[in-house]
Amino acid sequence: MTLPKQQILDWLTEQRPRRLDELWALADQTRREHVGDAVHLRGLIEFSNICQRNCLYCGLRTGNAKLSRYRLTEDEIMDCVGQAVAFNYGTVVLQSGEDPGIDLDWLCALVRRIKSETDMAVTLSVGEWEDDALQHMRDAGADRYLLRFETSNAKLFDRIHPPAPGQPKRDRMEILRTLRRLGFEVGSGVMIGIPGQTWSDLADDLLAFAELDLDMIGVGPYIPHPDTPLGKYLEHYMASEDLQVPATELMTYKVLALTRLLCPDTNIPATTALATLNTKSGRELGLQRGANIIMPNLSPTEHRGAYEIYPDKACIKDSAGQCLLCVTGRVAMIGRSVGKGRGDSPNAQQRRDADSAIESIGGDS
Ligand code: SAH
Ligand code: SF4
Repeated sequence: MTLPKQQILDWLTEQRPRRLDELWALADQTRREHVGDAVHLRGLIEFSNICQRNCLYCGLRTGNAKLSRYRLTEDEIMDCVGQAVAFNYGTVVLQSGEDPGIDLDWLCALVRRIKSETDMAVTLSVGEWEDDALQHMRDAGADRYLLRFETSNAKLFDRIHPPAPGQPKRDRMEILRTLRRLGFEVGSGVMIGIPGQTWSDLADDLLAFAELDLDMIGVGPYIPHPDTPLGKYLEHYMASEDLQVPATELMTYKVLALTRLLCPDTNIPATTALATLNTKSGRELGLQRGANIIMPNLSPTEHRGAYEIYPDKACIKDSAGQCLLCVTGRVAMIGRSVGKGRGDSPNAQQRRDADSAIESIGGDS
């Protein structure tokens, strides 16, 4: 569905419960028609919280001296992968800070090992790397890559996301296009309610989702972290009251639902950040308002607390097994089922079909 910007803005600012119920119903129906009732689970392994960057919003920023840092060994990661296999997950997501101690060859060997020992899809979420490094990761067998553009307002992004020390500024939109060219399934997304983010910015984010033709779109509320500049001096960064997007649960559902309407075939997670704002039913409501993916945590329990992108993150005390039980229970409670297999995005499948049709036409001539 295409929606003009004004209509997106009208939905984003809509307050009437009855109208919002219509939005939720439309998003849920679109989700059912395009990606079905299955909820696909992606096991999340947060394998390093070391980061060279100083993003103003994130607790893993290098300037946060309070955080104790860790990097999992290959064996520790493979233990988590073993659990993913035992739990029948179709995908593992390897996520980290931009850790200068991660050697590219080591990472590629790890991906190769997971691909050779399991049938799972491998998703990487390891920040901004050079194009040739991304090519190596793809050659090693990585299937998907997640890199949120965080906000489509370039000025706001530059303000909250300074370049890594000694490195030039990178354009995340450009990296997303490179990832697509390299054949990754491409995931991106934004934070909702970043201080300084206006309604118009958020509407542009939604339009950018459609334009980038993404395979996965993660949207979650911005959650202030007291040990970051943005969290500490929140007021200083806010846009004027009538322009600033609130970082609320309700806003997150609106963006989720509109994302589903604009990008009906994409995979959309009910995020941990959403579950953090509403531990009781955030995941379920997300799944009923457009989402079709959950990313249960597989990280070793002893390190969960240290992957503190934002405070009071949901599920940090639960073991991987408890996360599975909790998530499957929530999925069953709303009458949905856990998906089997890798849960590739229908969007990517359509692209692959079109490519092979073009190839076969080329082969005939
Ligand atoms: N280093 C990688 C991956 C880890 S950060 C990267 O930056 O891409 C993963 C995501 O966490 C970020 O894309 C951002 O959207 C989200 N995040 C960071 N700080 C946050 C905060 N304070 N509130 C909500 N989400 C946050
Ligand atoms: Fe590092 Fe990613 Fe956090 Fe930025 S958002 S500080 S790159 S972990």
